[in-house]
Amino acid sequence: MIWLLKPAELSLKGGNRKLFELALKRNLQTALAGCNVQITMRTGRIFLHGTEMEQAVIEDALRRLIGISGWAQTRSLPKTIEEVLAACVDEGKKLHAQGITSFKIEARRTDKSFPHDSYALRCMGGQAVLDAVPGMIVNIHNPGAVIRIEIREKAYIYSDAQKGLGGLPVGTAGRGLLLLSGGIDSPVAGFLMASRGMGIDAVHFHAYPYTSEEAKQKTIRLAQILGSYCMGIRLYIVGFTKVQMRIKESAPLPWSTILLRMAMMDCAEKIARKIKCKCIITGESLSQVASQTIENLTCTQNRMILPVLRPLIGMDKDSIIKKAEQIDTYKTSIEPFEDCCVLFNPPHPILHGDPSEANRLYEALELEQLIEEALRDCEIIKC
Ligand code: ATP
Ligand code: MG
Repeated sequence: MIWLLKPAELSLKGGNRKLFELALKRNLQTALAGCNVQITMRTGRIFLHGTEMEQAVIEDALRRLIGISGWAQTRSLPKTIEEVLAACVDEGKKLHAQGITSFKIEARRTDKSFPHDSYALRCMGGQAVLDAVPGMIVNIHNPGAVIRIEIREKAYIYSDAQKGLGGLPVGTAGRGLLLLSGGIDSPVAGFLMASRGMGIDAVHFHAYPYTSEEAKQKTIRLAQILGSYCMGIRLYIVGFTKVQMRIKESAPLPWSTILLRMAMMDCAEKIARKIKCKCIITGESLSQVASQTIENLTCTQNRMILPVLRPLIGMDKDSIIKKAEQIDTYKTSIEPFEDCCVLFNPPHPILHGDPSEANRLYEALELEQLIEEALRDCEIIKC
């Protein structure tokens, strides 16, 4: 069987196009490691040869492949008009048997030596289907299905084109370290950055025994789902109980959430530098909760040297949920769990923290040693 893949956004890449195509090929090979497939690169297209037995695995990988705008299982034929028209008729019959009663033909001719241009191919293909499949009509503006003809080194005919995830191949934009909670937002944030080509690693903070083993397992499952789009991620699981206890005992309660976020950032930055991640990614969205006002976001990143990327910053919760459903993390995210912030729930959290006050309070906590300890004991899981 053959699948045709359309790379996304590559036309924007000029001289760097080759690099992006190679990354896409590499990711496809990684996603299909263990399958018996062959990948051929052609101008503007990638062809994947595989067996029917592995169809389900291959198509699952294509649904999760960032960097393609579309894909389809295709027929591959010798370049004669007879073969092309016969294949159009076959596609028309197949569609009609599925209950589809209208169609249109789209055609592309990359090989200009082929004697019929794309307009002629559309007309001839359409007529052939109309003649051979009673009950099928042409509908240009709202067709039940589109039969596509591409004349390249061979003729390709397909009608069941699927939309791809789009974006740029993961691995073309450096790596970022995602702060992954068990909630809805952070997996979406990781996915959005991966869609811009960024490789993702993740860090999760837990506060055992105040947070449960299930909460940790749930985060691992989220990392696995996310990893299926990102060519795998390394998940750092960091025990933050002592850090949180210190904050709880020594800092003014209204500041506790902000100070915890600052400690998370501090710790994440240390991991990021060690594993060569170039930025920190969070699922924060402006004013979603008290800790995410513009002043408090400023406090949180106050001490950071690496950039903090917040891809959800301007998104509302409904759009974030929609995206989470699309990437299949939503069901897992809404399983009940306690985030490590349960240790303190200030009734009146600071809403507009002053960054220098935050800094002063943070330094007074003397968390350096505790963070070093937490890092030493952290668990690393390949997802
Ligand atoms: P989410 O749905 O991702 O949990 P949220 O709306 O609950 O986000 P907060 O709990 O305020 O928001 O967290 C803001 C961001 O801080 C999260 O999106 C995530 O990036 C990070 N974060 C929060 N808790 C943790 C945690 N336990 N481990 C790692 N990162 C965390
Ligand atoms: Mg959360």
